[in-house]
Amino acid sequence: MKKILVTGGAGFLGSHLCEKLLNDGNEVICLDNYFTGSKRNILHLMSNPYFEVIRHDITAPFYIEVDQIYNLACPASPIHYQYNPIKTVKTSVMGAINMLGLAKRIHARILQSSTSEVYGDPDVHPQPESYWGNVNPIGVRSCYDEGKRCAETLFFDYHRQNHVDIRVVRIFNTYGPRMHPNDGRVVSNFIMQALKNEDITIYGTGEQTRSFCYCTDLIDGLVRMMNSETVGTGPINLGNPNEFTINQLAELVIDLSGSKSKIVHLPAAEDDPRQRQPIIDQAKQYLQWEPTIQLREGLQKTIDYFKSL
Ligand code: NAD
Ligand code: UDP
Repeated sequence: MKKILVTGGAGFLGSHLCEKLLNDGNEVICLDNYFTGSKRNILHLMSNPYFEVIRHDITAPFYIEVDQIYNLACPASPIHYQYNPIKTVKTSVMGAINMLGLAKRIHARILQSSTSEVYGDPDVHPQPESYWGNVNPIGVRSCYDEGKRCAETLFFDYHRQNHVDIRVVRIFNTYGPRMHPNDGRVVSNFIMQALKNEDITIYGTGEQTRSFCYCTDLIDGLVRMMNSETVGTGPINLGNPNEFTINQLAELVIDLSGSKSKIVHLPAAEDDPRQRQPIIDQAKQYLQWEPTIQLREGLQKTIDYFKSL
């Protein structure tokens, strides 16, 4: 039994991760400030004596003895990370310093949930881990993109300078049950709109693309990365390489939910990446990992969840 700290554990991905780690027989400490996460996401885990929840903001230091740290704390949807951009940078950068300092002191392995946003609006397509990205440093998305890039820098500097045992994962758009219904991300927005027969809001032409990964596939990849002894530090891409336009996604959601919604086009979002698709050859080779749940099946599960709310 390992003792594992999960920051952002009450969020969408964090709650699935806590659940998987407990099911695998570990002791889990969930740290969250509930900015975008909620107790509802982890309510079903509360009765487990090996699960502990602590309200804490990772911009402040935290002391504990654990074997592994998953650092997931950070708002992930544009609406939430742009709400207080300075706080978003602090969470990524000061949060990374605090958690890396902890990992260094207690000799814990630490995994960073980085993002495909480090590639910005990519002019290399699809994206391999070796691509350095095309990121606007002063735009409205920069607090998130540059915060996550700086966090990666800190992870590698703590590794080189202090020999901290790091793992860096670049997560591509992931969706599923327990996404915040109002967090503005495309899958939750479209499903909520479809279930209420409201207009489906596509920003811009809808010809921009994303590659959508179902949450349980992603969590399986995170745990494999943390426990692999052969993969090294990463960074490693985790995501589903099947790429869709936002127009295709809208049509699929309408079809699967049997909605009467109409599609409307609104002005494009600022600095919206035009395309995004992960190359996952490294994850396949080193982690024997690839997604198993495709978009139609995953969307159906997610629609069923949002219906139940
Ligand atoms: P989420 O917003 O549901 O989860 C983030 C969690 O972190 C929330 O519970 C929130 O309350 C908590 N948090 C935020 N700031 C904090 C702080 N200062 N101190 C303590 N807790 C704090 O988002 P998610 O989709 O579950 O994302 C989890 C992680 O995965 C994030 O780091 C995100 O950047 C990364 N990621 C997610 C995706 C995706 O598509 N879901 C893609 C790339 C990267
Ligand atoms: N998007 C959209 N309508 C919405 C929400 C998002 O057309 O109601 C678009 C958005 O402009 C982007 C894509 O969907 O092109 C994915 O957006 P999301 O915020 O989910 O993720 P990210 O842009 O961070 O990949």
